[in-house]
Amino acid sequence: MILLDGKSTAAAIQERLSQQVHMLQVSGGKVPHLAVILIGDDPASHTYVAAKLKACQEVGFQSTLMQYANIREAALLRHIEQVNEDPTIDGLIVQLPLPQHVDVQEIIYHIRPEKDVDGFHPMNYGCMARNLPAHVPATPLGILALLDHYQIETSGKHCVIVGRSRTVGAPLSILMSRNSDPGNATVTLCHSHTQHLDQLTRQADILVAAVGQPRLITAGMVKEGAVVIDVGITRESDTTRKLGYRLLGDVDFAQVAPRCSYITPVPGGVGPMTIAALLSNTLRVAQNQVYVPS
Ligand code: NDP
Repeated sequence: MILLDGKSTAAAIQERLSQQVHMLQVSGGKVPHLAVILIGDDPASHTYVAAKLKACQEVGFQSTLMQYANIREAALLRHIEQVNEDPTIDGLIVQLPLPQHVDVQEIIYHIRPEKDVDGFHPMNYGCMARNLPAHVPATPLGILALLDHYQIETSGKHCVIVGRSRTVGAPLSILMSRNSDPGNATVTLCHSHTQHLDQLTRQADILVAAVGQPRLITAGMVKEGAVVIDVGITRESDTTRKLGYRLLGDVDFAQVAPRCSYITPVPGGVGPMTIAALLSNTLRVAQNQVYVPS
């Protein structure tokens, strides 16, 4: 079994990004600039945003945090409009989840597609589905980069994805089934209504779990020699830890790992790759490499 080390792979990508930032500056270009909107006090969201801002600093990006304890939807839309119009800002992300009173789709719809480095805008989503240039959602993009880094063959393989969220499972199903490399897989997309989940997961050459239920994937659900990608991150209280919690994936790692050819750990697997992919999307805007749909 080989561990798919997202932490070191992401560090290598970030090293390349910082070199590209340097080259951009030397050639008179601008420093890439990511703006992050964070609303509320969800501890996990604060941790993710802190990690994204730290990564920006490490690769030499400028970053701006726009943080609100609470905000009305109309005011939030005005802030997004300001960022859209600000030529110094290349990318904007609005950290999810948002408070109940804010319509997530409305917010995403108002981010200019070119600056939507999370790749959530319908324009980017549609272009991705058509295999046209677009911002691809960071987590699926990070997973593809990880598969690519370890030269894992996806063509002709059966990829079973558990979880069909708009941000992870659904876009990954499109990317894995596209006529490209990585891609060309035969994809099964599972969700909470899927019957006989274990029968489907046992057919997977590549199994992706993106559910948010710790240890949902047990050893009996995994084919011998499968590649297992664990996207799930759930905080479980653990008073023996300094932080008071530990992070659990959707896969029962101890039981499943011996059956796998490759497996991602949690933490240190998909998480760092997501951040590296977000930075890559932002750099492409600063390099004027993004097709702007009209
Ligand atoms: P969502 O809650 O948006 O989606 C969960 C999906 O799992 C849904 O499609 C749901 O089905 C499906 N599901 C729920 N229960 C079952 C079940 N018993 N069997 C099969 N499918 C089931 O989650 P996200 O995609 O946003 O996140 C999933 C996990 O990944 C979370 O732990 C999250 O924290 C983590 N995550 C990690 C990232 C990283 O960088 N590592 C990035 C993003 C998320 P239905 O559609 O029918 O409700």
